[in-house]
Amino acid sequence: MRSTMQDVPLLISRILTHGSTIHGKSQVTTWTGESEPQRRSFAEIGSRAAQLAHALRDLGIGEGDATGTLMWNNAEHVEAYLAIPSMGAVLHTLNLRLPPEQLVWIVNHAANRVIIANGSVLPLLAPLLPRLPTVEHVVVTGPGDRAPLAGAAVQVHEYEELTSGRPTTFDWPQLDERAAAALCYTSGTTGDPKGVVYSHRSVYLHSMQVNMAESMGLTDKDTTLVVVPQFHVNAWGLPHATFMTGVNMLMPDRFLQPGPLAEMIESERPSHAAAVPTIWQGLLAEVSARPRDLTSLHSVTIGGAACPPALMEAYDKLGVRLCQAWGMTEMSPLGTTSNPPGGLSDEEGWPYRVKQGRFPAAVEARLIGPDGSVLPWDGESAGELEVRGPWVAAAYYGGAHTSGEEQLVRPDEKFSEDGWLRTGDVGNISSEGYLTLTDRAKDVIKSGGEWISSVDLENALMAHPEVAEAAVVAVPDDRWGERPLATVVLKEGATADYAALKAFLARTVAKWQLPERWAVIQEVPKTSVGKFDKKVIRKRYADGELDVTKV
Ligand code: AMP
Repeated sequence: MRSTMQDVPLLISRILTHGSTIHGKSQVTTWTGESEPQRRSFAEIGSRAAQLAHALRDLGIGEGDATGTLMWNNAEHVEAYLAIPSMGAVLHTLNLRLPPEQLVWIVNHAANRVIIANGSVLPLLAPLLPRLPTVEHVVVTGPGDRAPLAGAAVQVHEYEELTSGRPTTFDWPQLDERAAAALCYTSGTTGDPKGVVYSHRSVYLHSMQVNMAESMGLTDKDTTLVVVPQFHVNAWGLPHATFMTGVNMLMPDRFLQPGPLAEMIESERPSHAAAVPTIWQGLLAEVSARPRDLTSLHSVTIGGAACPPALMEAYDKLGVRLCQAWGMTEMSPLGTTSNPPGGLSDEEGWPYRVKQGRFPAAVEARLIGPDGSVLPWDGESAGELEVRGPWVAAAYYGGAHTSGEEQLVRPDEKFSEDGWLRTGDVGNISSEGYLTLTDRAKDVIKSGGEWISSVDLENALMAHPEVAEAAVVAVPDDRWGERPLATVVLKEGATADYAALKAFLARTVAKWQLPERWAVIQEVPKTSVGKFDKKVIRKRYADGELDVTKV
């Protein structure tokens, strides 16, 4: 028997058309740092996306062309998110915090011909242009001196001049739902960055998942503060998901410091927000020093790195509920979300909230032990997590320029023979399907044949009242192979008493896991997307730059 159902492709142009009509009154509000933010309705965004598509077509952008954005979170970036894939081109978000060498590599690898950039990032982009031979046009938007582009061997356009006066509708093509829609390179701590190419279908299905109550579950009554950058895995899918259900967006633009974030929460009263733990740590310090009203925030999606339970508790006290999510660039990014099962009291739900969470139906998971066997979901057996699903990568982008023909790359360490994605994350899964990650495979501390979780030690340390942040890394040890080194950032006015910190840890951590090497640092080094950058700490230790005390 054949199905009798229609086979309509799942396209981003559908999300755009739906959002800008049915939810035409919803708004994207962009923080300007001035008395009034910029407000734009979804209907306006839809019209302007059509105008942008006309403009890009006139610049020669066609189906399959990777088109770069070097932008903060703002309304124009949302327009690019909708216009570029809908016209059949590929939205390529460029991470403006990457080292220049990596940016050059990525733009060349993707062969971008057009880059849309915010005026404020031109001092970063302009010096790189002589090394970006494929870039023909730079389209500039928002405040910032244009002078850095003077004399550049590219055509420079003002976004508003280029787009205004053009038709406000576009005959969006009927694409194959499996066609490329967006491209994002992993922040890659080792080797060259790797490009993940999302399809219309994967973005569409992922957006529906983001909108499910078990994930972010937002509606047009909500406003979400999208702190997670649009260059970090498509801002966790929010710009597309919000257009599906009319969720208002509050965009911080370049104002990502704790002070302005607190101010925009207080004045715009978003009901939801999404950001990595370091942002919430910074905001907590800010509101502890200068109390602000954060009570509009009913729920917060926190992910990208493990959320310290102490942080969750601190926000619970402020009436803000942090909900942990786990995912990765290769997963669009949504994997698990940590909502407790139904019917539990707050107290009973707590142990579930501090885990990484449950898998949605579309994401299958398995744990692989050190000997390659599939491990049981018993909440104890620890192995490497592998996943598969319709928004999970099956390969990396091989580059436009390699041989004329595009190639896909499937490194063995990233993909199993039978097609599952190897996440590089280590942990266990309970019989109820809750994932607990204990570490990245490369961060776990292998001491005398046993594994010590650096994340467990960090979480325990960050629960100490005098510790602002803590990062634990493996360092070589003659006797045990590796041992933990605890680096801590103390709160203002606190003094280092390592013996006391160690005794504090001993209350929750097995004795053989307690670090004997300690160092105070001014700040935990962070990656371009705000995660702890442990390779920098390991290098500082190896180079003898840390003042290490043995306790
Ligand atoms: P990225 O692709 O840069 O977003 O990095 C993905 C990686 O971030 C994952 O493989 C995890 O190691 C880590 N990660 C993301 N979310 C979490 C979380 N909630 N808890 C622990 N690690 C996380």
